[in-house]
Amino acid sequence: MSADTLLSDCRVPVLGICAYSGTGKTTLLLKLLPELNRRGLKVAVVKHAHHNFEVDKPGKDSFELRKAGADQMLIGSSNRRALMMERPVEGDPDLKELLAMIDQSRVDLILVEGFKKLALPKLELHRAEVGKPFVFTHDPLIQAIACDDATQLPADCTLPQLSINDVDAIADFVQGFIASWTPVAPAPLGPSCDSVERKQLSVNQGVARILDKVSPLRDTESLSLTGARGRVLASDAISPINVPQHTNSAMDGYAVAHGDADEYTVVGEVFAGHAFDGVVGAGEAVKIMTGAPLPAGVDSVVMRELAQEQDGKVRFDGAIEPGQNVRQAGEDIQVGATALTAGARIGAAEMGLLASLGLAQPTVYRRPKVAIFSTGDEVCAPEQPLKPNCIFDANRFSLYGMLAQLGCDVIDLGIIEDSEAAMIAALSDAAEQADVVISSGGVSVGDADFIKDALAKLGTIDFWKIAMRPGRPLAFGSIGNALFFGLPGNPVAVMVSFMQFVQPALRKLAGEANWQPQLIRAIATEPMRSRSGRTEFSRGVASLGAGGQLEVRTTGSQGSGILSSMVQANCLIVLEEAVDQVRPGEPVWVQPFADLM
Ligand code: AMP
Ligand code: MG
Repeated sequence: MSADTLLSDCRVPVLGICAYSGTGKTTLLLKLLPELNRRGLKVAVVKHAHHNFEVDKPGKDSFELRKAGADQMLIGSSNRRALMMERPVEGDPDLKELLAMIDQSRVDLILVEGFKKLALPKLELHRAEVGKPFVFTHDPLIQAIACDDATQLPADCTLPQLSINDVDAIADFVQGFIASWTPVAPAPLGPSCDSVERKQLSVNQGVARILDKVSPLRDTESLSLTGARGRVLASDAISPINVPQHTNSAMDGYAVAHGDADEYTVVGEVFAGHAFDGVVGAGEAVKIMTGAPLPAGVDSVVMRELAQEQDGKVRFDGAIEPGQNVRQAGEDIQVGATALTAGARIGAAEMGLLASLGLAQPTVYRRPKVAIFSTGDEVCAPEQPLKPNCIFDANRFSLYGMLAQLGCDVIDLGIIEDSEAAMIAALSDAAEQADVVISSGGVSVGDADFIKDALAKLGTIDFWKIAMRPGRPLAFGSIGNALFFGLPGNPVAVMVSFMQFVQPALRKLAGEANWQPQLIRAIATEPMRSRSGRTEFSRGVASLGAGGQLEVRTTGSQGSGILSSMVQANCLIVLEEAVDQVRPGEPVWVQPFADLM
């Protein structure tokens, strides 16, 4: 099978890691995967194994149920899931079939370990001590060689050479491989099918390239709890106390030692915020209120409703379980435990938690400073009268809103006229003040000249076509230490591109650890169309259906200038690259607006 046939259904790059056994494929992968993760890449691995491998142990339910005859055993938890199937085949497992089982919408790359003979692009690993020949001499699909002794390579080898011990350089190679990858063009469906242009980036590739250029801010400040709302914690919050501080009662009732007696003598009472001095003896009870510390000598609390007190004596209905209705000291958080880790965004729950530990002055990262401006001679500030043939500037205000929501300091540079001198002056001024500069408009083909020329003089810029709708054109570059995003002009495209590309960059810049957009499954209530090979972001309205399931419909017309659709919507419906149509009743991914609007 040719590489094109083998990989024709793949929407993400596939790279084989090939070597003779003993070279250390897995050892390298164990170091490479964390490095790729650190660079913001999500990776799937397909590994060739001997025929009767086991992934779980005898005695585990999943193992026993499979052995008992479950043809497919799918085990799922809130964190992970595993599907085990019996699929005996002659010879090697079918890699095309295995690749189809990977959820390609969630990864940027698939690494394949151990299908050495199959036609797919590969990185060859070689160690002199293993004493085997090179594979690349007879495999034209080898892309590069990572070896421990370059002197062993034939003199005429023109492939990129890496050190097998240099994980950074290998990760650079992998990133370059992803960046230069183009999907195998889908087989034409008929004369009317307009094929997707090849030289474009997927949404994930765009995000990975951007995140690679973002270094988190280091400056911190110490703020009051209310002042820290929406900011990112710069160091772990370690609890200086046990929460609760003392073992205490969860009920209003009587504190006793369990199994002590049938009838107890009431020797005192204790309220929350106070303590019972002294030790409670055998056959004695103390009347206790919710939250009051447990007196010495007792271990259980009987709720008041189950007690009959008369003449200083109390009896209870039913048996007493040891420790019942008692909250142990440190049961919520123990002294010395990490209550929040650095990189957490401080919202209402985090504020309450920090307060409950007495951590009233959290150290947080400074706010990112972001400069925004609009371009276009037709664009008119909403404070001014609308000139003939013009439109009001919507983009600066939707950008301002999303940036404020993300806790950024916004520097508003207004509308910049379409002239190179004006653009250079505005951009250099912006870059001096800001960590990030964002423009809208003027990045479509044939329209880009002012921004392109100005940025070429001041810094660097790339113009990308992203396989998505809305928001295909995107410019990304840098001016001095500031990052530059040139978003498209259409108001919906601006918001969608901001959500997909600017948001992850700003969150990483702000110090937020491992942020990912939240995607949830909803059932489509109407037919939806996309074009395979590009990601379609439709404006959606998600709501709970009669059957208790999340359902989603579109807001109707999806033109990228129809800003009212963003107002009606509460989510984006994400039709991934592989999807071309969705029928009513089928599940789709939705990305709620919750965080940003
Ligand atoms: P452009 O990418 O500059 O060709 O702009 C694409 C479309 O978006 C045009 O119809 C512009 O008029 C419109 N547009 C550009 N900038 C803005 C803005 N700031 N607010 C609203 N619409 C805009
Ligand atoms: Mg324009």
